[in-house]
Amino acid sequence: MIKGTIAIVGRPNVGKSTFFNRLIGQRKSIVDDTPGVTRDRIYGEVDWLTQTYRVIDTGGIQIDEQPFAEEINMQVDIAIEEADVILFLVSAKEGVMSDDMAIAKKLVRSNKPVLLVVNKVDNEKLQMDAFEFYSLGLGDLFCISSVHGIGIGDVLDKVTEIMPPKNISSYDGMTSFCVIGRPNVGKSSLVNAILKEDRVIVSNIEGTTRDAIDTPFKYEGEEYIIIDTAGIRKKGKIYEDIEKYSILRALNAIDRSNVVLFLIDGSLGIREQDKHVAGLAHEAGKGVIIVYNKWDTVEKDDKTMQKITKEIRAHFLYLDYAPIVFVSALTGQKINQILPAIQQVHDNCTLRIQTNVLNDVILDAQMMNPAKPHNGKQLKIYYSSQVGVEPPTFVLFVNDPELLHFSYKRYIENKIREAFGFEGTPIRILARKKS
Ligand code: GDP
Ligand code: GDP
Repeated sequence: MIKGTIAIVGRPNVGKSTFFNRLIGQRKSIVDDTPGVTRDRIYGEVDWLTQTYRVIDTGGIQIDEQPFAEEINMQVDIAIEEADVILFLVSAKEGVMSDDMAIAKKLVRSNKPVLLVVNKVDNEKLQMDAFEFYSLGLGDLFCISSVHGIGIGDVLDKVTEIMPPKNISSYDGMTSFCVIGRPNVGKSSLVNAILKEDRVIVSNIEGTTRDAIDTPFKYEGEEYIIIDTAGIRKKGKIYEDIEKYSILRALNAIDRSNVVLFLIDGSLGIREQDKHVAGLAHEAGKGVIIVYNKWDTVEKDDKTMQKITKEIRAHFLYLDYAPIVFVSALTGQKINQILPAIQQVHDNCTLRIQTNVLNDVILDAQMMNPAKPHNGKQLKIYYSSQVGVEPPTFVLFVNDPELLHFSYKRYIENKIREAFGFEGTPIRILARKKS
């Protein structure tokens, strides 16, 4: 689980993207084979000790045809709004510049935890030069070299120390969900339609993230909470139209949700940008429901639903576990299917399978279809066990973890799904060497 968000700010060429890549480096290859959102990344994840943080390189968020000063201004605003800890990067090579001073001024006013990180301190001589940055009035400074990988660990230690605790325990026992999708797919209409039908709204909870308003309510004895991606219910945020920024917003909401509703605009059909959104939903390891909205605008006969289902499956192969519902937020058609679907998917996300029952299924699967030998060596699964939920995570104890190939993992996953369902939730399968 993501424990908080770190934003990197600083003027161009101080080394933000080099530093960013250094931070997310070791995870990159894992993340990169998931579709959609990986190119041109401005956000990633960094593991430090037992924690995982999201990292944003604000330098990658740009507004077209705006003067440079505007752009930095926006980047700092976004960092202040979205991050729990801000890393302000400056460069020892160039020294204190006027843009550094402008950024420092904004950060001081923000009351956010800020660490001043002096980059390009490649050697000891440059360390002396770094001291002039004390003049920015941000207190202690950390000297690093992103290129050489020096000092990074100290920065992350400090981040861990000052990261404010996330207060999401108040959502225990509730099912939290968020609605994501391209602009105009009907996110706010859907939220309103769900809330309209006599739901008892408990009260608005001031979210952990700045001005996000999460709405808890009761329905048929169950408690739910809609995690707002800010822009959804309060329109007119200044930077909302910048796609990369709306992605960050969505990521924040996804982090805090049990189940994600991924909306498609039925009046337009599937668009390229939907793939980015779907990728976000899948990568997070949360429950996912695909909601085909604006069903009222679709000309249908008795085959339409089947045809569209096929199309959705073909476009979002990796979301094959997600149920699809067809609704109209405008007319209210089939809106009553949504909460039961959310409840069911959340139940599946938290399902635990008894070890002996699981082993029967997996060992049977192996017997029916043993893994193909690889360089003369054959994978042997001895036993398995479910080690986690949300998402359900299974460990296979094997002779050699290297021998578990993607296709065989897929086969095992399918067998688990055939036996136990798990509709709506991704499944993780890991291999460990049997000791
Ligand atoms: P950004 O514009 O802030 O994202 O900066 P970049 O990451 O693109 O880096 C700008 C330039 O600084 C590139 O040529 C980098 O190779 C260089 N650079 C980044 N970090 C270091 C460092 O630690 N030492 C040195 N000497 N150069 C660095
Ligand atoms: P958001 O940007 O994703 O929050 O989308 P909105 O909820 O603001 O909706 C965008 C537009 O689509 C508005 O004009 C809505 O009235 C319209 N809309 C939303 N849901 C439906 C629907 O189910 N059917 C039809 N016909 N229009 C819809």
